[in-house]
Amino acid sequence: MKPTEPNAAAPHEPNRVCDVVVVGGGPIGIETAIEMRRNGIDAIVVEAGPLGHTISWWAPQTRWFSSNDRISIAGVPLNTVDQAKASREEYLTYLRCVVDQFKVPVETFSRVEKIEPRPDEPRRWQVRVQSKWIEASAVVLAIGGTDHPNRLNIPGEDLPHVDGYLREAHHYHGRRVLIVGGRNSAVEAAIRLHRVGANVTLSYHREELPTTSIKYWLRPEIDGLIRSKAIEALFESRVTAITPERVDLEQTLPDGRHHTLHMHFDDVLTLIGYDQDKTLFKQLGIAMEDPGGKPVHDDATMETALPGIYVAGTAVGGTQSSKYQVFLENCHDHATKITKHLLENGIGRSEPSDEAQTDSSSDTALNRQIEMNPES
Ligand SMILES: Cc1cc2nc3c(=O)[nH]c(=O)nc-3n(C[C@H](O)[C@H](O)[C@H](O)COP(=O)(O)OP(=O)(O)OC[C@H]3O[C@@H](n4cnc5c(N)ncnc54)[C@H](O)[C@@H]3O)c2cc1C
Repeated sequence: MKPTEPNAAAPHEPNRVCDVVVVGGGPIGIETAIEMRRNGIDAIVVEAGPLGHTISWWAPQTRWFSSNDRISIAGVPLNTVDQAKASREEYLTYLRCVVDQFKVPVETFSRVEKIEPRPDEPRRWQVRVQSKWIEASAVVLAIGGTDHPNRLNIPGEDLPHVDGYLREAHHYHGRRVLIVGGRNSAVEAAIRLHRVGANVTLSYHREELPTTSIKYWLRPEIDGLIRSKAIEALFESRVTAITPERVDLEQTLPDGRHHTLHMHFDDVLTLIGYDQDKTLFKQLGIAMEDPGGKPVHDDATMETALPGIYVAGTAVGGTQSSKYQVFLENCHDHATKITKHLLENGIGRSEPSDEAQTDSSSDTALNRQIEMNPES
């Protein structure tokens, strides 16, 4: 009788094969894919939500803190009609235009659930997206760092009137709103909700707002609103429980005494920062370091200890809990570093794909259409 073969895992039948899978369709994932495609590397983007998912969940009309030239990608200028910093809506429009211009293949609403080496060929990677498998020579984890709002871990946090995100400001008109937090998101939300006619209370656990980390244009306004009592500030306070009827807060008074407050609010916004989803790092065994569980990688190439697995964008900062260090504006070089390293390792064609260049054929088609339908 023939001896039984060892039960080696078989590779998955891929639904798609490409050079590189970029996980994450945020600005840096898109910029990285464009840089690769310009250099003849067949890169595709797989995104768990819509294009620019992180920016899409900002409250309507939220503006970037960074100026437009610092958040523009792939060399495409970002301009706004009023020369102001781009709003959420303007930036999402810009992202769609950039993706269309360079014909970047983006699979939206497709979460990458697993990444593993091909059993018979460890330098090839198999990426599971729902029930499909994509096979590639390299994977870039451009997954950002703001997947989940941080939690207070107190009773009542999951009640329907408690939210970790600021939504459409209009909804809060005429309502009593407690905002928990004291950094940019909380301060900006307090100012915006005050302006739409909400009755705002701010609860912050320190004795005053941070002196250095609040944007310089928010600071005078929030200070003025607190001084004039247009916004009530409860410094040195912590929320301990939330029920549908009331919020319990413990506060230390300036004279050192503690007291408990029971207050009613229609809405409670816990704007205390965001946490990175580390599922893929853990699953791949990528080492992480403090603070914030930053994925360990080579700064010159952005490659992790796993050959062919790279990190890019704000994902490299891990969970940034206090002062943010990694922004979109200091991540643009990740795209060029990874592309250079891939080319040095023989990944990619020598000639860039036509689609990655400015699409002159569609310009010609448009010109023809204008000639035929001048009014369209
Ligand atoms: C209110 C607010 C204001 C901000 N303002 C600024 C600012 O002014 N300047 C600045 O530089 N930064 C700002 N930031 C941070 C900003 O969000 C980032 O700089 C920017 O989005 C980073 O781009 P990125 O491509 O690195 O990551 P992201 O834009 O976060 O993109 C990561 C993407 O990966 C996707 N993803 C994650 N896991 C998976 C998976 N398993 N499978 C598939 N897809 C996955 C996510 O859905 C997401 O779309 C702000 C953030 C907030 C919340």
